[in-house]
Amino acid sequence: REHVQLQGLWHRYANATAGDWTLQGIDLALHQGELVGLLGPSGCGKTTLLRLIAGFERPERGSVLIDGRAVAGQGRWLPPERRGVGMVFQDYALFPHLDAWRNACFGLRRGQDSSRASWLLELLGLNGLEGRYPHELSGGQRQRLALARALAPGPSVVLLDEPFSNLDVEVRLRLRSELPAVLSRCGASGLIVTHDPEEALAICDRVAVLRDGVLHQCASPRQLVQHP
Ligand code: ADP
Ligand code: ADP
Repeated sequence: REHVQLQGLWHRYANATAGDWTLQGIDLALHQGELVGLLGPSGCGKTTLLRLIAGFERPERGSVLIDGRAVAGQGRWLPPERRGVGMVFQDYALFPHLDAWRNACFGLRRGQDSSRASWLLELLGLNGLEGRYPHELSGGQRQRLALARALAPGPSVVLLDEPFSNLDVEVRLRLRSELPAVLSRCGASGLIVTHDPEEALAICDRVAVLRDGVLHQCASPRQLVQHP
């Protein structure tokens, strides 16, 4: 089953010059449980692609399907909060006035069971820190909390935009090696933007390369190493 399907996505920003497409006919499928890396030079459209999937931008052509259901295109539009997509950002984007527990529970719908948030805090090694505010946590703990918050509502897809870039090398290597197992325990597939090919090759099931708005490759790490 496919968690995400992107079909012929075209996008340009309102202030772009004519013919200046940010994304040109993107086709991509994320299968259940898969972690796909999105690589490419700065400004090539990686964040824009995540924003289209999350629902912060509308594609000009093409469609986005989540769990087989059109959420953009095909005459359909679902806003971000109804897409069941989790997001993790480079700068954590935690709520500074909420403690870790409230941050972790933030995405839960009214009446939704919070035991999954407890389980995730435990899984991510944050148990005992529930009452701390983001400024009382280390960088690695903040990003663990952001991951718990993204996964607590039970999304089928998590979008991660350079999630490890602000972390010290030791913390980065540790957290990135845990990511695939955490996603798989949650039954979520992931799309991770990174500028670091080594990182993508180390943890991803497939790696796609975006250049000038065109998706150039989508191969397993093994294929990329053999045919760079
Ligand atoms: P990446 O994440 O690969 O660095 P982005 O998706 O952020 O690339 O940006 C792709 C292109 O779109 C860049 O040329 C950038 O300047 C432009 N862009 C990004 N956001 C906006 C916006 N809100 N309005 C206009 N242009 C934008
Ligand atoms: P309220 O009393 O306003 O409903 P909660 O009972 O949800 O607030 O939370 C109060 C505090 O108790 C939180 O700030 C958090 O530190 C802690 N807490 C509540 N539930 C849990 C839980 N399941 N696991 C860990 N800490 C929790």
